[in-house]
Amino acid sequence: MNILDRYHAMEYGPAPEARNEADAWLAARDFGRALFIGGDWKAASGGKTFETSEPSSGKLLANVSDANAVDIDAAVAAATKALPKWSAASGYQRAKVLYAIGRAMQRHQRLFAVLETIDNGKPIRESRDIDVPLAIRHFIHHAGWAQALDRDFAGHKGVGVVGQIIPWNFPLLMLAWKIAPALAAGCTVVLKPAEFTPLTAILFAEICERAGVPKGVVNIVQGGPEAGVAIVNHPGIQKIAFTGSSEVGKIIRKATAGSGKKLSLELGGKSAFIVFEDADLDSAVEGLVDGIWFNQGQVCCAGSRLLVQEGIADALIAKVKTRMSRLRVGSPLDKNTDIGPLVDLTQLDRVKGLVAEGARQGAVCWQPDAALPSSGYYHLPTLATGVSPANILAQEEVFGPVLATMTFRNTEEAIELANNTRYGLAASVWSENVNLALHVAPQLKAGVVWVNGTNMFDAACGFGGYRESGFGREGGREGMFAYLTAKLPLGPVIKPATTSAQPVEQPDGDTIDRTAKLFIGGKQVRPDGNYSLAIATAKGKLAGEVGLGSRKDIRDAVSAARGAKAWPEATAYNRSQVLYYLAENLSGRAGEFAARLTELTGATPKAAREEVEQSIERLFLYAGLADKFEGRVHQPPARAVTLALHEPVGVVGIVAPDSSPLLGLISLVAPALAMGNTVVAVPSERYPLLATDLYQVIEYSDIPSGAINIVTGRSAELAGVLAKHDDVDGLWVFADAETCAKAEAESIGNLKRVWSGNGRSLDWASDEAAGDAFLRRAVEVKNVWVPYGD
Ligand code: NAD
Repeated sequence: MNILDRYHAMEYGPAPEARNEADAWLAARDFGRALFIGGDWKAASGGKTFETSEPSSGKLLANVSDANAVDIDAAVAAATKALPKWSAASGYQRAKVLYAIGRAMQRHQRLFAVLETIDNGKPIRESRDIDVPLAIRHFIHHAGWAQALDRDFAGHKGVGVVGQIIPWNFPLLMLAWKIAPALAAGCTVVLKPAEFTPLTAILFAEICERAGVPKGVVNIVQGGPEAGVAIVNHPGIQKIAFTGSSEVGKIIRKATAGSGKKLSLELGGKSAFIVFEDADLDSAVEGLVDGIWFNQGQVCCAGSRLLVQEGIADALIAKVKTRMSRLRVGSPLDKNTDIGPLVDLTQLDRVKGLVAEGARQGAVCWQPDAALPSSGYYHLPTLATGVSPANILAQEEVFGPVLATMTFRNTEEAIELANNTRYGLAASVWSENVNLALHVAPQLKAGVVWVNGTNMFDAACGFGGYRESGFGREGGREGMFAYLTAKLPLGPVIKPATTSAQPVEQPDGDTIDRTAKLFIGGKQVRPDGNYSLAIATAKGKLAGEVGLGSRKDIRDAVSAARGAKAWPEATAYNRSQVLYYLAENLSGRAGEFAARLTELTGATPKAAREEVEQSIERLFLYAGLADKFEGRVHQPPARAVTLALHEPVGVVGIVAPDSSPLLGLISLVAPALAMGNTVVAVPSERYPLLATDLYQVIEYSDIPSGAINIVTGRSAELAGVLAKHDDVDGLWVFADAETCAKAEAESIGNLKRVWSGNGRSLDWASDEAAGDAFLRRAVEVKNVWVPYGD
């Protein structure tokens, strides 16, 4: 075919990227010594290696050292040794290192891109134009955070040695998302790449050598789950940062329960791509190409569920099919290729299996009429229509080039369908009406929402999920918090509760019997089991009895909290006024509460009065902060603004400690309420009458029914029920160590956000037991990307 023929045919000729440099690099390296530990290259102590091969051909690329627990020990030892000097280095010193890494990566940008494409199979256009430049941007952006630590994160310090485990779909980019903020925060790292894609991490370790990263600050260990497990369980590691499947994320949540390790999980997704009838359909089709066929759909935030408004469904589907027919499937090293191979045969088989099962469940799966290369793990782009909401293709993360389509009639239905998933990573909203788009975005349960766009990322903008897509954010200011700790004022060690063992003498004299019930859905209700718990005064006499809450009561309370829409939908100003009013009403009964404190805890009248006053002050504080702890606006290097919105976590369970029973409870409940969460609180087991006395104060204070629910009873048991309840989004537990550990381990059903005191209470009277540290835990940050320009 000559040039003129080609011009008339409008076909693309081959445009292969040269791979000679990458091949030379591969040939020159000793992959049997591929563990980068303490600045040295080491073989795996067990002598084992694993194969990495090229997805476009199946050919072996290298046999790479396969680390075991002994190697992880060595890497953690190296990171521990390097920690004091690195964490004590000035922000400027660390910034220089991060900047040098970024610059050195820039100098080898093409080699990184070609190696990534060879190892992972992603089209070179993507690794060259997206993965590698974004990875570099992360290092350069975070150089700035290293220097801004003192200014922006006063009172915080690096968490220590961090273990980082990443997947194969964006090997270099995920490495950058992990290592850059950790180094900026003054942490040292042990990072394990995925076993399918070890290569660019090895090149990155070479860059660290050249960029002057001190030995032991970055340790990169190659290996599979065995090495991953050893990292997760290592006692010398203070934080685990994991990106991967929700399944492994849950295993890690359970394994780290009770260890005190900080944890962030970036997991899978089933993101909605919502097209309203007034959308620019051609742009939406291009967005879809990016949304689901970028990296062959092996993207955690892939727009794998197309939700299209009924009236335009046929027109959009026709356009999508036409566009799909033009997608070029072929060698990933060809610059014209849109779709390369999947990462591995196992992944290809998994995708094929899910498509077959989706079809069996009634979906109509359409593929363009295109030939696949004769070797390699290719899968044609696939469009599934007639997909019911329960179909496996609508519910399971396929992690392949498969788009499931559903229609909706109106906005409410679109939101309902979009949220009908256990995941909550991302969503795209397409409409020419920005009012509609910004009306929908806050109602989507997703950590990132792109308006008229998709797959926009930047180092300055947080990324991460809601629900089973994990917790924690990567990127920007919120991503830095994932590697920092602030000291909270520790209180006493909490011992397991012993209420039932206490002998309780009957009171003297004849008082009118008052039985405290539970407070659920704005009403005082009897406990379902009709059992009570006797509560003793400090002198061992009977102070009163409270309802013994059970699983059923917690379930009722959670359902009341979930149904209390008026509170999260109220304006922040409105919530602020209600909390002020609560403070005012508590103040009106301050004497009574102080007397109750003295009676129950034996506190002196002065100390009791002080606790009540501090409780009122704390309510005032959070009333005032309700409309001030706001999000931010980012200006990424794109024609877009990113609104980092603070949203309530949802239904938050709170298990309050015995120490400072009024102030402790209020210090936990008030920030959660201030941010628009609804609460199911289990008050102090020993002194619950302080909470039951609050019922009337709450009733007088205009708090909508269900916004706060109080279930008295045995803390350990009720904490367990809250932990297992899949409609509870967050759980704050201040109880004995065993109860805290169990709550963390049992939270994996829906991966709720657990904050536990690990068996310690706080010094609630301290000023540090209030403020941003609490409010941050009471919100999810949602990043809404709004592009501008014609
Ligand atoms: P995976 O969970 O199988 O593996 C991820 C990593 O964990 C690998 O390095 C693996 O070796 C390691 N690992 C496996 N079992 C382990 C264990 N028991 N303990 C410790 N480590 C263990 O995931 P994958 O197949 O490599 O990656 C695909 C998944 O990653 C998808 O679900 C995708 O959505 C998710 N992902 C999420 C994000 C995000 O930011 N949310 C980004 C990229 C990928």
